Amino acid sequence: YTPMAIEYTRHLEPLAVVYDCMDELSAFKLAPPELIKREAELLKRADLIFTGGHSLYQAKRRQVEGAPELKSRVYEFPSSVDVPHFAQARQPLPEPADQAKIPHPRLGFFGVVDERMDLALVRGVAEARPDWHLVILGPVVKIDESELPRLPNIHYLGGKQYKDLPAYLAGWAVALLPFAKNESTRFISPTKTPEYLAGGKPVVSTSIRDVVQPYGKQGLVRIADGVLEFVKAIEASLKPNPQRAKWLKRVDNFLSKNSWDRTWEEMSGLIQIAVGRRRAAVSSAKLKVLKKKQVETGVSYNVLSSFRKNTSTFDYLIVGAGFAGSVIAERLAAGAGKRVLLIDKRNHIGGNAYDHYNEHGILVHKYGPHIFHTNSREVFDYLSRFTQWRLYEHRVLAHVDNQLLPIPINLDTINKLYGWNLTSEELEKFFASVAEPRVPVRTSEDVVVSKVGRELYEKFFRNYTRKQWGIDPSQLDAAVTARVPTRTNRDDRYFTDTYQAMPLHGYTWMFEQMLNHPNIKVMLNTDYREVVGVIPYREVIYTGPVDEYFDYRYGKLPYRSLEFKHETLDREWHQRVAVVNYPNEHDYTRITEFKHLTGQVHPKTSIVYEFPHDEGDPYYPVPRPENTRIYQQYKALAEATPNVHFVGRLATYKYYNMDQVVAQALTLYSKIIGKRRVEAIRPLAREVKGNGHAREPLVLPSLEPKIGNTPAV
Ligand code: FAD
Ligand code: UDP
Repeated sequence: YTPMAIEYTRHLEPLAVVYDCMDELSAFKLAPPELIKREAELLKRADLIFTGGHSLYQAKRRQVEGAPELKSRVYEFPSSVDVPHFAQARQPLPEPADQAKIPHPRLGFFGVVDERMDLALVRGVAEARPDWHLVILGPVVKIDESELPRLPNIHYLGGKQYKDLPAYLAGWAVALLPFAKNESTRFISPTKTPEYLAGGKPVVSTSIRDVVQPYGKQGLVRIADGVLEFVKAIEASLKPNPQRAKWLKRVDNFLSKNSWDRTWEEMSGLIQIAVGRRRAAVSSAKLKVLKKKQVETGVSYNVLSSFRKNTSTFDYLIVGAGFAGSVIAERLAAGAGKRVLLIDKRNHIGGNAYDHYNEHGILVHKYGPHIFHTNSREVFDYLSRFTQWRLYEHRVLAHVDNQLLPIPINLDTINKLYGWNLTSEELEKFFASVAEPRVPVRTSEDVVVSKVGRELYEKFFRNYTRKQWGIDPSQLDAAVTARVPTRTNRDDRYFTDTYQAMPLHGYTWMFEQMLNHPNIKVMLNTDYREVVGVIPYREVIYTGPVDEYFDYRYGKLPYRSLEFKHETLDREWHQRVAVVNYPNEHDYTRITEFKHLTGQVHPKTSIVYEFPHDEGDPYYPVPRPENTRIYQQYKALAEATPNVHFVGRLATYKYYNMDQVVAQALTLYSKIIGKRRVEAIRPLAREVKGNGHAREPLVLPSLEPKIGNTPAV
């Protein structure tokens, strides 16, 4: 955090050095003179230099001019903002006692009061408009209290806690950035700018470079210098703004790109890469030393190979930390004592099943809804070693003819759709009368039309499938729509599997337990191609797209992609069930509301829309005969490739659910170790005792409100 720390950390050999540079400290009042020298040393030593704003970024890059390798280590991270926290100020909040007695209109400032504040400006504004009241929150630091302008309409309320700031902000008419224009403010990027804006307050600032660009230029903040202009800008801000709604929309749009989560993710990714680079550099440096020693002493070459074997060779390099990669990593490490390196090019584990708490604290699935269901006791028991469960039965409604109807089609669907009152037997007869026989049942159209006829097919399946897959159901294998059955009873569950449950603490938590083993090293933000030839390993387990592995030798295998649009709404519920399908309207296929899946209680609710696309991350293999033919060629090649195993949805080009991928990975493991599957996955005694894995499956009672008593929306 400060170059001065180099004094007492020089002797350390860290995994990486990150210099988090928030200010041009050397320009600060009372800055120690050695600071400049220490900073030069730190800049040379740091793997990463994070700068807290654009001017600072440019300044640090200039400082390492002439050393391109250092220049590329400097990154710009302007202030992020906790929007929901400060947005509380958009509604009236109970007034803090010390502010309540101050008359209106109030102009406010929060932050450290030091030499960066333009005290003459503050005095000038207060003198020019005695009817305005300046509220100043924050500790007075480095400057003498006696220097502060003292007037009846300036109120110094001292330092406040972060949690209380919105309550103060809510009571202000305008928020101020009265910074002096001097050496100490040349590089500042005040965090309070986005915080004030998140609170919905008009902001007036002096022409600080990082405020002018972007806030001033985008018309989000008024920029003014000198008492006269500053007063004028405040006057303008105090007038009712007929364009306020539009201005707020632009503010919100700007802030939405600036969350702490996003900053954290980017920083964490860069740190992982830096650590990886250092590790690689260290081992190659050690190798060089050994090689040199070998030349000098004539030691046999075996020394080198034993170094590789004993200290740095992994038994398995596993590509992809989704279900396929993580299950096989866990088994190889915990079951067979192998040393495993698990890499993923994304910045998280869990693959497409990854979930996380969003900025509102709601657990969401980044890549769309994942509902666990299986008929395999073996798979369920295996996963139960790493998680407890929450019983959850999935129900879906389809928006058809302006009604929300249960899908899969069942007795209630038809009765509600047509306003009938059929029994199950009558419905069977009805289906028989409208069904069009298709022999053989080859395509996704055949599956549906041969069961429920053309009209229902068109209402529920044709357009959804065209949207989801970009082709007509008549061009798609039967297996796709066959995933959704037709029923003549009133069972409205989406799945009928024996085990239907969600990991109690989420998927990512479950993956963390699975991978928590001393033999497993996880490396994120790492593409397979970056480590091939750098890290020694004996065999590879590959779970990425198979065509990519072979450089598209037989052409590209089509994968269907999705764009996920996540939203959080300021109300408790959005829809009656977890998923609502929109076969016939909109560009999206479905909306998912996560709290139904997770059982989380929260005053807000998060949803996701799914927009299918041709281009983008590969999510769905496209089952149709011509693709299967291309895949067969890759499969033959895969089988002929020694020491590489292909497993998972992308590597075996199969539209598999999570449980099927787990089963596939367990099968591969039993093949690798040459044991029958039951034996291969039976927990070892040391596993049971050792790390707490291999618990009895524990299933908690369902908290899910059943359909019928779900919240009304
Ligand atoms: P993935 O989860 O895709 O993992 C592969 C990993 O490999 C990825 O993390 C990727 O980043 C990494 N990778 C790829 N190439 C490289 C490379 N070159 N270098 C490094 N890393 C690489 N299943 C269900 O059972 N129930 C559901 O409700 C359900 N809903 C779904 C909803 C959606 C929108 C989607 C897309 C899928 C759904 N699935 C569901 C299917 C489920 O996601 C998959 O079965 C499962 O995630 C497959 O696991 P995997 O490990 O094979 O692949
Ligand atoms: N489908 C449809 N209408 C629906 C639901 C599903 O046409 O309301 C079809 C569509 O082709 C979809 C397939 O059935 O891709 C499989 O549905 P599922 O819900 O299993 O899809 P996933 O959750 O895997 O995206």
